[in-house]
Amino acid sequence: MINNKVFYIYNMNSKIATVYRSTGSWYLVKVADGTFTEARIKGVFRTKGIRTTNPVAVGDKVKINIDENNNGMITDIIPRNNYIIRKSVNLSKESHIIASNIDLCVLVSTISNPVTLPGFIDRFSVTTQAYGIPLLIVFNKIDIYDKEDEAKLDNYFSVYEKAGCSCFKTSAINGVGIPELKERLINKVTLFAGNSGSGKSSLINALDPDIDLKVGEISETHLKGKHTTTFAEMFDLGSHSQIIDTPGIKSFGLIDFEKDELAMYFPEMLSLLKQCKYHNCRHINEPDCAVIKAVGSGKISELRYQSYLSMYNNDDQENYR
Ligand code: GDP
Ligand code: ZN
Repeated sequence: MINNKVFYIYNMNSKIATVYRSTGSWYLVKVADGTFTEARIKGVFRTKGIRTTNPVAVGDKVKINIDENNNGMITDIIPRNNYIIRKSVNLSKESHIIASNIDLCVLVSTISNPVTLPGFIDRFSVTTQAYGIPLLIVFNKIDIYDKEDEAKLDNYFSVYEKAGCSCFKTSAINGVGIPELKERLINKVTLFAGNSGSGKSSLINALDPDIDLKVGEISETHLKGKHTTTFAEMFDLGSHSQIIDTPGIKSFGLIDFEKDELAMYFPEMLSLLKQCKYHNCRHINEPDCAVIKAVGSGKISELRYQSYLSMYNNDDQENYR
């Protein structure tokens, strides 16, 4: 049976691999047997529903054929569990897939030096909610916080835990919280994000010194939010976990994100929406609004509600690209 034979040979060479890095036309992939190889793509891949600038993304599980020179050819993408995108700022309406198949997002934040604004955290949490990916907020640099910062930190813990996010404290400098954080990442693919200067690179290095990311100084350019275009990259953390670093990515875009769906991505609001008098309540100034009442009674934090309003009104859109 000629056909069977051909099929057999094809399968001999076809392997499953994970994409660790994308350098334009070449991809660094890790084959299931643990070896790394470079691969190109064969043919045209399209992602349903969006126009993307990159057909294959970091985190993708792919099928590859490897030739005798150890060059790989990506032939298929295994359907993604999830993926996060960044919308392009120009008019092309194209999106960039930052990463895929993510189990957990870590947002590295700081109370001071630099200050991570709650609005930034909230926008990020709305995004991860919309993608259905759990969020862990890691407050880093706890070694430098004064009494006032610590009080703020305690408040953030209560605000965000009430909002369904997990919180964590670390110091990449003195190692506080690092073993516990590492424990939380076991058997997961975790995407790390954060505003620049928060210590994301230092934290990843503290988790595994072999990763050895470049650590920057907090400079004028950081403060001005210099526009850096770099790509996500995956690293192994031990043998059972992977980290995806997202340098220069401040936040993620939501595709087809309707204003009136926004409250659904605030878990503490979601549970109350049915109790509003009007089914199309925007929770802004409507009578008998369960959300406004919950803000009044302290069940929903004022801080989170203000972020909701600001996002609803698109006040801060430009700050989060
Ligand atoms: P990134 O831009 O988020 O990747 O931040 P970096 O890892 O490059 O760190 C920015 C600056 O913060 C560097 O000067 C680091 O040494 C410093 N840094 C990072 N983590 C900590 C920490 O836990 N405590 C203190 N005091 N400084 C830190
Ligand atoms: Zn309402």
